[in-house]
Amino acid sequence: MEHYDVVIIGTGPAGLGAAFALLDARPGLRIALIDRNQYSSGGLRNDCKMNFSWPVGFPEDDWDKAVAERYLERVERFLAPNILERKSVDMYAHRAERLGARLLEIRQAHLGTDGGLALIKRLVAELSDRGASPSLGETVVSIHAERGVMATDKRELSFGAALVAPGRAGFSFLQDVMRANGVAFVDNVVDVGVRVELREDRYPIVHDYYDPKFLFPKKVRTFCTNSRAAHVVQEKYEDDAGVWYSVNGHAWSADRPANGLANFAMLKTIALTEPLASGQDYARALGAQAMLLGGGHPIMQRIGDFRLGKRSTRDAFTGDLYDFAPTLASCTPGDLGLAVPAKVMRALWNALKSLDTIVPGILHPSTVLYYPEIKTYANKPVFLDPASFRAAPRLYLAGDGAGTSRGITAAWASGMRVADGIMDELGLHP
Ligand SMILES: Cc1cc2nc3c(=O)[nH]c(=O)nc-3n(C[C@H](O)[C@H](O)[C@H](O)COP(=O)(O)OP(=O)(O)OC[C@H]3O[C@@H](n4cnc5c(N)ncnc54)[C@H](O)[C@@H]3O)c2cc1C
Repeated sequence: MEHYDVVIIGTGPAGLGAAFALLDARPGLRIALIDRNQYSSGGLRNDCKMNFSWPVGFPEDDWDKAVAERYLERVERFLAPNILERKSVDMYAHRAERLGARLLEIRQAHLGTDGGLALIKRLVAELSDRGASPSLGETVVSIHAERGVMATDKRELSFGAALVAPGRAGFSFLQDVMRANGVAFVDNVVDVGVRVELREDRYPIVHDYYDPKFLFPKKVRTFCTNSRAAHVVQEKYEDDAGVWYSVNGHAWSADRPANGLANFAMLKTIALTEPLASGQDYARALGAQAMLLGGGHPIMQRIGDFRLGKRSTRDAFTGDLYDFAPTLASCTPGDLGLAVPAKVMRALWNALKSLDTIVPGILHPSTVLYYPEIKTYANKPVFLDPASFRAAPRLYLAGDGAGTSRGITAAWASGMRVADGIMDELGLHP
């Protein structure tokens, strides 16, 4: 059986952050990095905009400002991003304040989907050059932390420590790992919302601030804004409830031709409390319900129809409300009112109306709302050592799947925090 000092599952930013931090500290360390995909599945290869300001992406249960900023500084030093210029947005910030909303000031970089892919390839090649063993297209199926062994679909490995960072799409695997290793977990929040697609000239703030983050009352926020060469896409989820799709958005780098459109998500965070069902199950049920109404596809509705309380039909996408063609045309024209829970819809709609006052024009009748956009996070582990995300001896759980991050830079920082913990636990400090 091959032995590694550290096995890292997932080549997303959490896994990469841990691998580079470990190799920086101990260059000869034997590290295996295993990923079931050829390229990491998350935001590094989709749009890849990176936020370098607290608290964006950092769940406050796990991070305080001082710790997050200490790690962010290290992440920024490593990634050396081109921070985008943010022109004066005081007018928007002032309008937001008057409505009880807030515009966060964030330092951002944007690589685009093509730029992100190039970055992953470069980083994985660099890890190989530095002696690590990346293995892409290999799936880990089980882990026994006490015995220090794991099985993949190809082999068995033994390890000194393991980091499981399988991202959001890997959360059922993470739950299996937690169950098999006696790691207790608690329910996590879910984000439920819509993706808004509109003409870029109706959301001109994006020319001054690439991904403007507005916080609204009732735990509603804008999220993941894309412009210039922006597209709405769908992600497949497959679980006990069957197959369902969540929408998302991305943009190509500035080298690609612009399409004149922008998109962003408006999300509401929902935390369920005892004795209600798990947030993850709730999210899956909402996803399944949307598929039922959309005939197996997400639903899209023009704002003009939504305001009138009538479903959109195909001709809303070619007829009088036609202003631009939706970029995710495979969605079913329908009625969000039937699919989105009333309390969620009310909060989202109030936030959209406020945003329309802050940036007038976003609620033009042609604007498209896509549903569902759902972000699930694995049930949160109860960590043995919260400082290093150690969940059991030699077993570390981090990144979006474990709920220690909600974005690329925080996931990278989580991986670095794990690396520091592994160095302590295995006594690897020089
Ligand atoms: C479409 C999309 C766009 C996004 N855009 C952005 C953005 O622009 N900016 C931003 O900050 N955040 C973005 N995000 C969020 C961002 O991707 C995550 O915060 C970040 O990638 C989380 O990092 P991670 O390392 O925890 O997991 P991931 O990046 O998801 O990586 C997990 C990896 O684990 C692998 N894996 C899972 N299970 C197994 C297994 N059993 N065996 C082997 N490998 C396994 C997966 O294949 C995957 O490559 C986006 C997410 C998505 C889905």
